[in-house]
Amino acid sequence: MKLPGRITGMFRIRTDQPEVIRAQLRALSKQIPLVYFLLSTNVLALSATHFGVAPAWLTVVTPLVVLLASIARSLDWIRFSRRPFDLAEGIRRLRNLRTLATALAILMPAWAIALYQYGDIYQHTHVAFFMSVTVVGVAICLIHFPPAALSVMLVVAAAFAVQFGLEGNRIYLALAINMVLIAFIVVHTIGTYSKAFNGAVMTRIALKRQNARTRRLADGNARLALHDHLTGLANRRGFFRILENAIAGAAKAPRFAVGLIDLDGFKQANDIYGHAAGDQVLVETGRRLREMVGKQGAVARLGGDEFGILLPLDEGCDDLRTQGQKICAALAQPFALANGAARLSGSLGLSTYPASGLDAEMLFDRADYALYFAKSHRTGTAVVFSSEHEALIHRNAEIEQALRTADFETELSLEFQPIVRAGDGRVNHFEALARWDHPQLGRIAPDRFFPLAEKAGLVSELTVNLFGKALQAARLWPAEIGLSFNLSARDLVTPEVGLMLVAAINRSGITPSRIAFEITETALLRDIEEASRMIAHLHALGVKVALDDFGTGYSSLSYVHELEFDWVKVDRRFIEHITANERSQKVVKTIVDMCENLGIESIAEGVENRQQAEMLGELGCRYLQGFHFAQPMTAQGVASYLARVRGGSKRNGQAVA
Ligand code: C2E
Ligand code: CA
Ligand code: CA
Repeated sequence: MKLPGRITGMFRIRTDQPEVIRAQLRALSKQIPLVYFLLSTNVLALSATHFGVAPAWLTVVTPLVVLLASIARSLDWIRFSRRPFDLAEGIRRLRNLRTLATALAILMPAWAIALYQYGDIYQHTHVAFFMSVTVVGVAICLIHFPPAALSVMLVVAAAFAVQFGLEGNRIYLALAINMVLIAFIVVHTIGTYSKAFNGAVMTRIALKRQNARTRRLADGNARLALHDHLTGLANRRGFFRILENAIAGAAKAPRFAVGLIDLDGFKQANDIYGHAAGDQVLVETGRRLREMVGKQGAVARLGGDEFGILLPLDEGCDDLRTQGQKICAALAQPFALANGAARLSGSLGLSTYPASGLDAEMLFDRADYALYFAKSHRTGTAVVFSSEHEALIHRNAEIEQALRTADFETELSLEFQPIVRAGDGRVNHFEALARWDHPQLGRIAPDRFFPLAEKAGLVSELTVNLFGKALQAARLWPAEIGLSFNLSARDLVTPEVGLMLVAAINRSGITPSRIAFEITETALLRDIEEASRMIAHLHALGVKVALDDFGTGYSSLSYVHELEFDWVKVDRRFIEHITANERSQKVVKTIVDMCENLGIESIAEGVENRQQAEMLGELGCRYLQGFHFAQPMTAQGVASYLARVRGGSKRNGQAVA
């Protein structure tokens, strides 16, 4: 930039750089009182040396006015330094300062030059000294604000040069030249300093901004890491953080409950109303839960349709189960959606600190167990972890340990329960039911140990072992009697198990069409794609596939349609009250009709008496199974049972023998 441009630039107030203005004002508010101090002491000194020589308005009135004005201005700047200000006020103050500085730069030399008309050579020298020292001092004090510093320096230096340069005295001429040189140096220094000052301010601001950005990013990452972005609630990690904090702060709130919630029917709502509606349900669930737990509590979305809550337990509040039931009731209210209203329910498992556990992990596990208990026994209700659950966990741990060391070959056996035709009661096939007799623990029920074997990763071994035993038994049965065998969830998604089952069928020599595998819906839900592959593979071999416990899950209908089941087994909970409960009758009738339409065979399980059997026959159910026909029996028992029910038929008698 050319010199004139640079100089005019230096007179500008940087309204485009608010940060520079703020920094200038901060620096000036410390410097300006010094400027006034310097000015008034120098004015007083010059007045004193001219007192009595020059007129009073120059030696008394003017210094008094300067002193009072200096005190007033200094106080104003000191006050200003202590209060916040906005940019407009800052700019105004700088403009005023520039004007005042220029005015003083004219008035003060004018006053000094007026005094110069009086006195002797010493007093004249004092005037020159006053002007030169004051101007340099003031310009340096104003260095942070070049417009003021420069006008002071240039105006006074010009006045000095004119006054003393034209005096016709060599010494004064030398002083004038000296002053002009100093003025150049000071102007240059002010220019350089101001550039460096502005640069430093801008760098500091940039650094500050960058730090703020980094901090925002870090905060954002931390938020993301601990929060669920859909609901804005804490996520699983965030929930554990909340639990840990609650435990750490237990001195303040000594008792609290940890709850885990699972929405029942969420998947259906998602399927029926769409994902946007599903999201809406999740957000609304979060809102309802927050309302229920209050300000002291906390809510987290742990993933999918699973939520976690922290519930402070105050003296005098409802007992925990009642509170839990209220939460379940809140979730059972319909969810208003853009395209309808969804009805869901939430199961809740609760554990308490410190009774159920002392650390976050344990509290979570206990609540999870209570939730599992709620879901498997009382869907849509709240279960509080209790000492009975503790005993169950203990017992389960014992069973799991026993499973790991069990000798499956000798300890595992099978019982068989016949499935009969509704019309004539003829045996169609037998369902194989696992039995485990442990030397120390005694007989353990299959619905007890299978889930534990699944969890322990031992179930495939059990399946393969049992299926071998089942085939061995079925080889002795008449050719028209089939075998139905239960598969576990894990089996369905383990292709090696599928291969081993197929190999076992081939080895046994039994026609694959005599064999059916029973699969529950919950097992399908694990990994529907992998499960469908396995089912298709089994189908291709001619093996039959049955959907077990139909009606206990949720999306049954869609599975029946997609997966081409050969059999559907109506869960025994619909059969239990069928003779008295019209609703059960309707449900069964619907299922039976649907099977009929799709060309699927229907089986009713858990038929315990003649009335049930007759009613099921009337409803059109094709096959029946239950204690009314026979209890599950040993492999040996099957032979005598068949002999009995099929009565002396020669062909069958031979086959069974
Ligand atoms: P499930 O597949 O529904 O098997 C039927 C269960 O109902 C059997 O219990 C049977 O004894 C019982 N049952 C039969 N008729 C009646 C009746 O009239 N009334 C009542 N109340 N119950 C009846 P079990 O043998 O204790 O088996 C329980 C569950 O264990 C089975 O339910 C099945 O899910 C599982 N399970 C049994 N064996 C196996 C197996 O080899 N593999 C797998 N993965 N699971 C098995
Ligand atoms: Ca079954
Ligand atoms: Ca069943």
